Amino acid sequence: MNRKDIQLILKELNIVPKKRFGQNFLIDNATKDVIIKQAQISKDDIILEIGPGLGALTENLVKTAKKVYAVEIDSRLSSFLTNKFSDCQNLKIINGDILKINIPDHNKVVSNIPYKITGPILEKVFFNKNPPQGILTIEKAIADRIFSYETYKTSSRITISVNTFMKPVKKYKISRNSFYPIPNIALALVNLSPRESIDKFLINDYQRRFYLKILEGIMPFKNKNLANALELYTKKKLKLNLNKKDILNILEQNNIENNKVNTYKVSNFLEISKIFYNKIG
Ligand code: SAH
Repeated sequence: MNRKDIQLILKELNIVPKKRFGQNFLIDNATKDVIIKQAQISKDDIILEIGPGLGALTENLVKTAKKVYAVEIDSRLSSFLTNKFSDCQNLKIINGDILKINIPDHNKVVSNIPYKITGPILEKVFFNKNPPQGILTIEKAIADRIFSYETYKTSSRITISVNTFMKPVKKYKISRNSFYPIPNIALALVNLSPRESIDKFLINDYQRRFYLKILEGIMPFKNKNLANALELYTKKKLKLNLNKKDILNILEQNNIENNKVNTYKVSNFLEISKIFYNKIG
């Protein structure tokens, strides 16, 4: 499908793309080829597509995969797709909000995702005990942060959270002209593999949420030292009266140095979470 095809379908359906839903439709076949190639779809794959739109990727996914679940929030688009793919046995179109539905089991996610909800999508779909492979077109700024694991200055909450569960494999810049309407952010394709093993602490749902809360709580203070960041977090967010001296004591007892937050890695954050889980979890 090129720009003209997409514009025609939208006109026939009487649809004006909604900014709120991040509706930017893929119109460039070369870009589509890059995404599909990167996805390396096999006949055993059970694929989740988030926001199939008019089905640009979907039509390629169903050719090879065992099963494709395509979750689309906009009922006008999901009805269009149900019609378009009425003969397709291995596709299930689900009209719903990816953040609200129970997602069927899958091993791979291939999507040009609604970029406004990238964080919540990553959290729901990938920050799990058994995450899928992810081939995703996302905002370039976020992609850069996911891949900036070795450069402390640019590492952020998303760098740490994604790298806890996923191994960044590949990143490509994608031209925003490949979409209609042209999005007002730069885009990148990322290929993320699940980590071979996920720390035992994160298997438990409550502990995993605690870990993600700690990241959310202290990463905004990534330029402060750990004790300060923990103090600010526990006071402001948890309303706990853990003063800096207590925190420094706990760190010392556990042989954790009090450095700048953005110098710690996933393993350090896990260690910190485990220690503070026993105190404040
Ligand atoms: N993948 C398509 C469309 C990308 S636009 C393509 O590449 O052409 C993003 C799509 O996500 C839109 O179809 C939009 O309606 C859908 N969407 C937005 N928010 C969603 C949500 N919360 N759950 C499911 N789909 C959503």
